[in-house]
Amino acid sequence: MASVTFDQVIKRFGDYTAVNNLNLDIKNGEFLVFVGPSGCGKSTSLRLLAGLESITEGTISIGDRPVNGLSPKDRDIAMVFQSYALYPHMSVFDNMAFSLELQGKSRTDIKQRVHSAAQQLGIEKLLHRKPKELSGGQRQRVTVGRAIVRQPAVFLMDEPLSNLDAKLRVQARKEISKLHQDLNTTFIYVTHDQVEAMTMGDRIAVMKEGILQQVDTPTNLYNHPINKFVAGFIGSPSMNFFPVERREKEGKSYLKWGETLIDLQTYLPNMAKDIGNPSLTLGIRPENIYHPQYTPPDIQGLTIQVTVTLIENMGDSLVVYGDTPNGEELVARLDPRAKVRSKETLDLLIDSQRLYLFDSNEHTL
Ligand code: ATP
Repeated sequence: MASVTFDQVIKRFGDYTAVNNLNLDIKNGEFLVFVGPSGCGKSTSLRLLAGLESITEGTISIGDRPVNGLSPKDRDIAMVFQSYALYPHMSVFDNMAFSLELQGKSRTDIKQRVHSAAQQLGIEKLLHRKPKELSGGQRQRVTVGRAIVRQPAVFLMDEPLSNLDAKLRVQARKEISKLHQDLNTTFIYVTHDQVEAMTMGDRIAVMKEGILQQVDTPTNLYNHPINKFVAGFIGSPSMNFFPVERREKEGKSYLKWGETLIDLQTYLPNMAKDIGNPSLTLGIRPENIYHPQYTPPDIQGLTIQVTVTLIENMGDSLVVYGDTPNGEELVARLDPRAKVRSKETLDLLIDSQRLYLFDSNEHTL
């Protein structure tokens, strides 16, 4: 077990900065997920930690030991990649035993570790098979098994589930979370999938264009995103954003959203203070919008008229796309019992306690 620290870490490829001044403390035993869109620098951050890329500036420590100058094999880490990268000519047992043999472990020790890992992953019966005789899910477990046998201080996983179909991914996700609980070791996991991040991470580090935007628990990221990017990235379907103008009228402050005036004192009392530039963005999560017949009694709603353009029935909810009177698109996740027809115009209710507001620099107010 070990903590991991990124201290002012920069990685440049030529004059391109892939990781820009990363500061991050990952706790001993924590499951930390790096998430962000393609190219944001999450894999590079992991590869810097693994020793697969050299650090341009700054220090990475595992425990209290700086590892900048250490080769990957001396860092006490094990990495599970997105491609299975199993040796095709070797059995599952030999694939799992390979790194231990390189380390010069005894035959008895190797056998014991491989069997114990195989038992943990439910692949004991597959030890004699070759990779091509395995399903995708089984191969993925062997890849994880190969990491477990090394008993590293830190597990690094780079999109390990991306080769699996949707159903297997859910299964494998649970298995990795369970494995983390059982092993009680530090896990650092890279994914572009926010659902994976939310369901697995103790904390999530959200990156964009090489810059760490926010690191926090899934609940805090969802409820208190630091900026518009994080707000839009976490949650599915994504948060709706609408340009609004702050207006003062008869001593009161309002947000003007099309023809709707939102009274700041009533709905966003913390925002009633002077906030500089009056051009703001209003954020509304689709799940905070209700059909009038299925609005919980404690919801104080703002009404918005919507002309329905598309309905997606998810079984447990209706994802309804529509146009507001200003011609902006709005997406709402409604109660599945709601009767909604395409092209109809209806009034939806927005939970006014769950409004988000962003300033002209896209920071949350
Ligand atoms: P993805 O989800 O697509 O893997 P990512 O967030 O993991 O994306 P990185 O692989 O960390 O992104 O890459 C970050 C940026 O650095 C990208 O723009 C990428 O093109 C660039 N980059 C990565 N490796 C190299 C390299 N060896 N040489 C030059 N540029 C690189």
